[in-house]
Amino acid sequence: MIDRYSRQIIFSGIGEEGQKKLGNSSAVIIGCGALGTVVATSLVRAGVGKVKIIDRDFIEYHNLQRQVIFSEEDIKAGLPKAIAAEQYLKKVNSSIEVEGVVADVNYANIERLVAGADLILDGLDNLETRLLINDVSLKHKIPWVYGGAISSSGMTMNIIPDETPCFRCVWNNPTGTGIALTCDTAGVISPAPFIIGSLQTVEAMKILVGAKEINRDLIIIDAWRGEFSRLKVDHRPDCLACRGEYEFLEARFGTRTTSLCGQNAVQVLNPEAGTVSLERLAAHLSPLGEVSYNDFMLRFQANNHEMVVFPDGRVIVKNTDDEALARGLYAKYIGM
Ligand SMILES: [Zn+2]
Repeated sequence: MIDRYSRQIIFSGIGEEGQKKLGNSSAVIIGCGALGTVVATSLVRAGVGKVKIIDRDFIEYHNLQRQVIFSEEDIKAGLPKAIAAEQYLKKVNSSIEVEGVVADVNYANIERLVAGADLILDGLDNLETRLLINDVSLKHKIPWVYGGAISSSGMTMNIIPDETPCFRCVWNNPTGTGIALTCDTAGVISPAPFIIGSLQTVEAMKILVGAKEINRDLIIIDAWRGEFSRLKVDHRPDCLACRGEYEFLEARFGTRTTSLCGQNAVQVLNPEAGTVSLERLAAHLSPLGEVSYNDFMLRFQANNHEMVVFPDGRVIVKNTDDEALARGLYAKYIGM
C-alpha cells in the first residue's frame, strides 16, 4: 500500500501522517457529473478510506465529453451514474471502500446519506440542493467544498462550519429568478469542470489532512480566457443558516414535486420561483428543442420529454411518474 501512494507521501504537504489521515477519512460526493467524476476518481486514487458517490441520473452520450470515468459500455448497459462510478472506481482501488448510491438528494434523506462523513463535496448542477448541503453541513459541523462549472468558467469555495462564511452568506436569494444558466442551456467545455474539480480535490486533501493553508476565498476561473481570480467573502450578519435556521433542511423553501394521478405526469412547483417570462424562456430554450407558447403556457419538447411551463413557475413534466426525473429536467432546463 505504501508503494501505491509513494509519490503522494513524498510530497511534503501529505507525508506518511497525512496519508494515514486520508485512509481513515470518509468523503461523500453529491452529484456525479463532470465535477463529481473528477473528484471521485482523484480521491479514490489518493486513498481516501471511504468514498460515497450519490447521483440520481443515468448516463447519456452527451455526458461522455466531460464525465471522465464513464464509457459507452456503461450507456449500453443502462447503468445509473452512481453504479457505473462504483464499478469503475472499485477496479481503480480495491483497498478502500467505494459506495455508489442512486438517489435524489433531498431534505428527507440528506442527513442519513452524509451521517459519519468527514467531508462533503459538491458535484451538483443546482443551487437548491447546494443550500440543502449548506444547512446539513452547518447543522452537523461537516465541512463541504462547493464547486460549480458552466460554459468555460467555474467557481469553488470551502465552507468550514464555525470558521468560514457559509454558502448562504454569499448566495442568499438563489430561488428568486425564473431562469438560471445551466449546462444544458449554456454549454460547457471539459477544462472548466476539470480545473474546478481538481481545485476541489486539493482542498479536500488539505481539509482531511488538517493542513493550515486551507483556501478561504471564492476562487473564480475562466479556462477559455486563462483567467484566475479570488474574491474575499464575508460572513453576512443576517445569514439565516449561520444563525442556525435551516430553511432548506426543514423544507420551508424548495421545490415540491407531485405525481399527477392518472395523467402520467409530474408537477414541479417552486414556491419561490416568482413570475417567469415565457417569451424569455422560449428564446432560451428554442435552440434545445421544440418550443411553442402563448400567454398562458409554454410547451417544450426535447429528448422524448415534454414539459409545460406556466408563468407562475410551475412545470408539468409529461410521460413520466418519476419525481426525481422531473426534478432533474426542471433543474436542467428551467434552472433553480
Ligand atoms: Zn452564512
